[in-house]
Amino acid sequence: MIRRIIDKVFGRKSRTAAGAQILPQSKHGIRRDQLDDCALKTCETLAQAGYKGYVVGGAVRDLLLTKTPKDFDVATDATPEEVRRLFRRSRIIGRRFQIVHVMCGRVTIEVTTFRSNGQKETEDEDERPTDEHGRLLSDNVFGNMADDAARRDFTINALYYDPLREEVHDYFGGVADCKKRVLRMIGDPETRFREDPVRMLRAARFAAKLDFHIDPDTRKPVATLAPLLANIPRARIFDEALKLLMSGHALRGVHQLRAEGLHHGMLPLLDTILDDTTGERFITAALKTTDARIAQDKPASPAFLFGTLLWPQVLQRWHALEAAGEKPQPALFLAMDEVLDAQRGQLAIPRRYDGMMKEIWALQPRFEQRGGQRPYRLLEHPRFRAAYDFLLLRAESGEVAAELGDWWTRFQEVDDDERAAMLLADSAPKPRRKRKRKKPADSAGEAPSA
Ligand code: ATP
Ligand code: MG
Repeated sequence: MIRRIIDKVFGRKSRTAAGAQILPQSKHGIRRDQLDDCALKTCETLAQAGYKGYVVGGAVRDLLLTKTPKDFDVATDATPEEVRRLFRRSRIIGRRFQIVHVMCGRVTIEVTTFRSNGQKETEDEDERPTDEHGRLLSDNVFGNMADDAARRDFTINALYYDPLREEVHDYFGGVADCKKRVLRMIGDPETRFREDPVRMLRAARFAAKLDFHIDPDTRKPVATLAPLLANIPRARIFDEALKLLMSGHALRGVHQLRAEGLHHGMLPLLDTILDDTTGERFITAALKTTDARIAQDKPASPAFLFGTLLWPQVLQRWHALEAAGEKPQPALFLAMDEVLDAQRGQLAIPRRYDGMMKEIWALQPRFEQRGGQRPYRLLEHPRFRAAYDFLLLRAESGEVAAELGDWWTRFQEVDDDERAAMLLADSAPKPRRKRKRKKPADSAGEAPSA
């Protein structure tokens, strides 16, 4: 109410949708039974209690594009406390802006109260809390449904599906943009990117994932604003990087990032990797494999993927340290630690992935040893499978001989007699030299999984 009066006085309507276009089922084609049961039940329960409940965001967009949504979000005018009281199995999460998780079986629906972009806090748009680059410092104010639509990023992400009436509420022409396969920012693109620079990464991700074209007006400010990503907490950048890499379209996503000049803020190592032919082949093979696994609904491990992204650097440092006189194993371990330390300031890969990345890397030299008991021991290693997949990528990119990858593939397939016949005499462990000190590296390569 107060908001309306303020809007009237200040004539400030531009950022708020005038009203939604309400599309019947015949126009949008989404059927209620395409929703997850839990999402449907959540909307029904809200409606029975006299509240609004719409499926919103990615799920509506994906259904319009006849893709299967990966999760369902619900938007409502009920407060988090009211939502919580309606659902026995639910809990409020988040401090700054609370959302409610409603659970049915193993499915969790995220229920968010309509919120606005913060305009309500101040009377004048210029006084909305932002940093000196225009980054919004607060967006935790409840609003109405139109406010909620206006604070979303792209037109295709601001669609609300009412399952009871089977209607789509479209505030910014998102349905038409879906048909045209255009990614278009809501409002003034430059302002919206300044408010939250991560939206630039989201634009690249959605364009890659949906195979959409970024609207020229939306795209234009990105080249200039890309450096603003430096002001974003590294953990948030990491989350976004992970989403892009796990979107099932990582290869396209990475190229999209580079085309927009956004990789400096997200995957700074990309330039060096892609400028080197072997590095490029390796990363391309890694991203393709990840995309293929996701397409087949197979698990893809982030640690494995980040391990591949960092490998060209590890390899480079490893060889440099060896050339400087360091022995191979200690050189590899030094290189691993250096590279992991260096990336923390840029990408902030969480430490929980370190263990697996290091194990995969540390096992690589052991694939070269194909005599005696060593291949059998490697086969038993808990990380063998991941390390072997990694080896295949190295073979595919030409970093190691294709023959090495083939040998290990065959070694796994054949019976005991054939295995014994495969062992290479020339790579049997060499007689040990007298050791002056305990070798730190050897045991670390065989460490149990993290
Ligand atoms: P995905 O299928 O990848 O999850 P999504 O559209 O559901 O895509 P989410 O990150 O889950 O993306 O966000 C849910 C919704 O919240 C988006 O559809 C969008 O409307 C809104 N949203 C998320 N992040 C932002 C942001 N940075 N700025 C504005 N709106 C956002
Ligand atoms: Mg989502």
